[in-house]
Amino acid sequence: MTAHETDKYVYDFAEGNKDLKDLLGGKGANLAEMTNLGLPVPPGFTITTGACQAYLATGREPDGLAGQIEAHLQALEREMGRRLGDPDDPLLVSVRSGARFSMPGMMETVLNVGLNDRSVVGLARQAGGSAGPTASGGNADPTASGGNDRFAWDSYRRLIQMFGKTVCEVPGEEFEHALDEAKRAKGTHDDLDLDADDLRGLVETYKKIFAEHTGREFPQEPREQLDLAIRAVFESWNAERAILYRRQERIPADLGTAVNVVAMVFGNLGPDSGTGVAFTRDPGSGAQGIYGDYLANAQGEDVVAGIRNTVPLQELEQLDKTSYDQLLDIMARLEGHYQDLCDIEFTIERGKLWMLQTRVGKRTAAAAFVIAGQLVDEGLIDLDEALHRVNGAQLAQLMFPRFQLDHDVPPVARGIGASPGAASGAVVFTSARAVELAAEGKAVILVRRETNPDDLNGMIAAQGILTSRGGKTSHAAVVARGMGKTCVSGADEIEVNVPAKRFTVGGRTVSEGDVVSIDGTTGKVYLGEVPVVPSEVVQYFEGSLDPAHVDNALVRAVHRIMTHADARRRLAVRTNADTGADAARARRFGAEGIGLCRTEHMFLGDRRELVERLILAATDTDRTDALAALLPLQRQDFVEIFCEMAGLPVTVRLIDPPLHEFLPPLEQLAVNVAVAQERGEDVAKEEALLAAVRRMHEENPMLGLRGVRLGLVIPGLFAMQVRAIAEAAVAVTRDGGAACPEIMVPLVGAVQELETVRAEAEKIIAEVVGDSGVEVLIGTMIEVPRAALTAGQIAEAAQFFSFGTNDLTQMGWGFSRDDVEGAFFWRYLELGIFGISPFESIDRDGVGRLIRIAAEEGRAARPGLKLGVCGEHGGDPDSVHFFHEVGLDYVSCSPFRVPVARLEAGRAAIETTGSDSR
Ligand code: ADP
Ligand code: MG
Ligand code: MG
Repeated sequence: MTAHETDKYVYDFAEGNKDLKDLLGGKGANLAEMTNLGLPVPPGFTITTGACQAYLATGREPDGLAGQIEAHLQALEREMGRRLGDPDDPLLVSVRSGARFSMPGMMETVLNVGLNDRSVVGLARQAGGSAGPTASGGNADPTASGGNDRFAWDSYRRLIQMFGKTVCEVPGEEFEHALDEAKRAKGTHDDLDLDADDLRGLVETYKKIFAEHTGREFPQEPREQLDLAIRAVFESWNAERAILYRRQERIPADLGTAVNVVAMVFGNLGPDSGTGVAFTRDPGSGAQGIYGDYLANAQGEDVVAGIRNTVPLQELEQLDKTSYDQLLDIMARLEGHYQDLCDIEFTIERGKLWMLQTRVGKRTAAAAFVIAGQLVDEGLIDLDEALHRVNGAQLAQLMFPRFQLDHDVPPVARGIGASPGAASGAVVFTSARAVELAAEGKAVILVRRETNPDDLNGMIAAQGILTSRGGKTSHAAVVARGMGKTCVSGADEIEVNVPAKRFTVGGRTVSEGDVVSIDGTTGKVYLGEVPVVPSEVVQYFEGSLDPAHVDNALVRAVHRIMTHADARRRLAVRTNADTGADAARARRFGAEGIGLCRTEHMFLGDRRELVERLILAATDTDRTDALAALLPLQRQDFVEIFCEMAGLPVTVRLIDPPLHEFLPPLEQLAVNVAVAQERGEDVAKEEALLAAVRRMHEENPMLGLRGVRLGLVIPGLFAMQVRAIAEAAVAVTRDGGAACPEIMVPLVGAVQELETVRAEAEKIIAEVVGDSGVEVLIGTMIEVPRAALTAGQIAEAAQFFSFGTNDLTQMGWGFSRDDVEGAFFWRYLELGIFGISPFESIDRDGVGRLIRIAAEEGRAARPGLKLGVCGEHGGDPDSVHFFHEVGLDYVSCSPFRVPVARLEAGRAAIETTGSDSR
C-alpha cells in the first residue's frame, strides 16, 4: 500500500452537487444535487472530466481509475442488492456522457449494460412478477403474459445495438435494417408487435452484424462492457461532429466529458410503467404551467426518438395519480431550488417514480425575457439577476419581423437557422436569375446546394438564401450574416437540382418561380407565402405599444429589464445616423447622441454636379465657387440633424471616401465618350471627366487618397464642411434650440495631420461661433494602427477619440472586408483560426489590444479624454462587454442595434469578472 493518494476520479452521486459542473459535467452535477435533495434518483456514480482529459491526453485510462470504478461499482451493487450482470438477478446500468455544457445529440449513452446471453434469462425471470397475469407460458400469448420475456430480449437487443454503434462503430443502419426486416417478416410497422421470439431472433442477427464488423463476438463479460462503454464516452468528446458543434457554439475544446454510471430503472415493464420529459414552464413562451410528454411502457430514448406517439403529461394524472402528484411536487421544488426553469427526464417503473435528469432548461428568446420577469415577480431573483439571464442576441432575435403562423403550418424542411429574419419569395437556382428577377422587382429566395463566392450578386439580390448543405460557418451562413440577410443552411431533406431548376423535398417538387418562405431563426422552410408580422418588441421601442397598458407579458418584461439595464450601465449608447429621419428613429430606440454622422451622402444626389465641378476645377475660383454652392446645402442637412438630436452630442465625420467614388465608373464614361463622339456631339466635358477618373484611379483605394489626406490635399474642402457645421449649430441655437457638434477627422495616422486640420478649423469656428455660446469639439477617429500606437501624441491635439473598428480591423489584419468575407472566411472559421468573423465581434487579442493601448496612452496624455467607438462592433454583444472593460465612454451603432447595446452595456456593468453568461 502506498501512502501516495492518487487523484479522485470517481464521485458517488451523494458526494457531488450542482456547482461541480466543471468536474462532474452538467448531468452528473445535477444528478448529485437531486440525490442530495432527497429526490428519487437511481443510485450511481460519476467519473470526472479530469479522468477524460487524462485519457485523451495519454490514450489510456489514468492510474487509479480502474480501482476507483471497482470500489464504486461494489458499493452500488451492495446498495442495489444485485451484481452487475448476475445471471440470476442482474444489476444493469446505463453509461451516460455529460459535459460542462450540454451538447444535444453530440455524445453517447449506452443503456442496459450488464446483459448477456445468461443474464437476459435472469432479467426476464426477475421481471416476470407483477406485470402480466402470469409469467409462465408467455410465448403462447405474447400480448397477455409474455411481456417480460419480451422486455428482457428487447433490452438485450437495444444493448447490442447501442453498444455496437457507439462503442464499436458498427454502422447504425445495419441494425435498423435488421429491425425493419424483422418487422416486415411479421407484417407490422410497430416495434411493439415483435414478441419475445422475434426479439430473440433479432439478438442473434445483431450479434452476427456485430461480429462481422468488429471481428469479435459481442462481449459477454459485464465488466468489459462497462469499461469499453466508458472509454467510448471519453472518445466521443473528440468525434468529428462534437468538434464541429463546439466550434460553432464556442465551447472550449479541452473540457472533456464526465461519464455517469447509473443503475437502470425500467419504464418498459408494462402499462404501469413509462417514461417522460417535462419543463417547469413553457420553454416556448415562458407561460407558467406543466409542459411535458409521457409515453407508457417505453424506455427512455423512445420519447425523444419519436418512435411512438407520446401523450401530454397531464394525462399521467389519470394513469397514475400518485406518481403525477409526486412529479408536480418535485418540479415545484426544483424550480424553487434552481430559481429557474428546469427541464427533467423521468421514468416510472411499476408505479414508482424515478428522476433521471434535470438541468436549467433551454428556452426561446421570448421565454427568456418573460421567465426572468416572472421570477422577479415571484421574489425568486432580483433585477440584476434577471438582467444577467437575458442577452443581446435574444433581444436582437425578438426585433426581427417573424412569420405569422397561427394556423399551425407544418414546415416542409428544417435546416440551421444561419442568419435570422423571415423571408418569402420565388425560388431561383442561380445567382444570375436572382439578379434578373430582383431587377423586375420580384422577391426571390436563392436556393443552392451550397454557395460560393460566385453567388455573391445573387445573394445580394435575394430576400433570403436557402442551402441544403453546410452549417453555421458555411459560406452562405457567414456571408448572409454579414449582410444581415435571412439564411437557412444545411436543410438536407432538400434535394437541389440546379440544371433542372427545381428541388424536391418529401416527395414534392418545387420549381423555379414557386414561392417558399424561410425562417432564419428556427431554420424552418415552408411552401408558399407565409405572412410576416412586425415585431412587438420593435413596436414597443417605437412607442406604439405602451407597456403600462398592453396585455403582453413579453413587452412588459422587456420594458422592465431594459429600464434596469439603463439604470445600471456606465457606457452611453449613441447611434450611427446620417439623416434626420435615422436620428429620430434611433432616439426612439434610446440613442443618447450620434456617434457617427457620415457626410458622404451630402455630396450625392442632385449635388453630384457640384461635386464634379469641384473635382474638375481648373482654377481656384472654380473650386471656391463649387464649395460655396455646397455650403448652404450641407448647412441645412446639419440643421435637421441637430434639431432631431436636441442638444445631444453629434459626432460629424468629415468626408472620408476617395473622391472618385463620386464620379461615374470608368467603363461607363468611356462608353459615353465613344457614343457621343460617334454622334459628333461635343464631348469636352465627358472627356475631362474621363481624364480625371483615369488620373484618380487607385490600385488600393481603401489605402489611398481618402480621409484626412483629402482635407490636406484639396484646399477648402474640410473648411467648407467645418463652416457648415458651425453655422448650423449657431443657427439652431439662435432659434432657441441646442446643438453639440463634435467634428471628427477620419483616417489620421500622425498627430501632424490632425494639427494641420485643427488649426484651420479652429479659426473658422472662432469666427462663426462668436459669442453664440456654441461649443464645437475637434477630435479624431482612431482607425489606422499607427494612430493607436501613437495615441499619446495624437491626444495632445484631439478632444476625443472614436475608434473606427471596421477600418482598424481591416488594417490590423490586412483584410479587405468586401473581398475576404465572401472569399475565404468560411474556411478560416472551419479551421478555427477565429471562432467568429473579426468584423462581427471585436478581436480582443489583436485589434482589441490596439484599442486598449490607445485608450490608456490617450488618457495618460489628456486626462478625461472622451472615448467612444463607432462601427458595427458597437452593437455586438461581446464587443460591448469589451468596450466596457477598457473604459470607453460610449458605443455607437446602427439604430436597430441601439437596444441591444443598451442591454449589453447594462449586463457588462453588473457582471463580475469570470461569471458565465448563458
Ligand atoms: P441525453 O444526454 O442524450 O439526454 P441520457 O444520458 O439522458 O442522454 O440518456 C438517454 C435516455 O436514456 C434518456 O431518456 C434517459 O432518461 C434514459 N436513461 C438514461 N439512464 C437511464 C437509467 N439508468 N434508467 C433508465 N433510463 C435511463
Ligand atoms: Mg437526457
Ligand atoms: Mg473608416
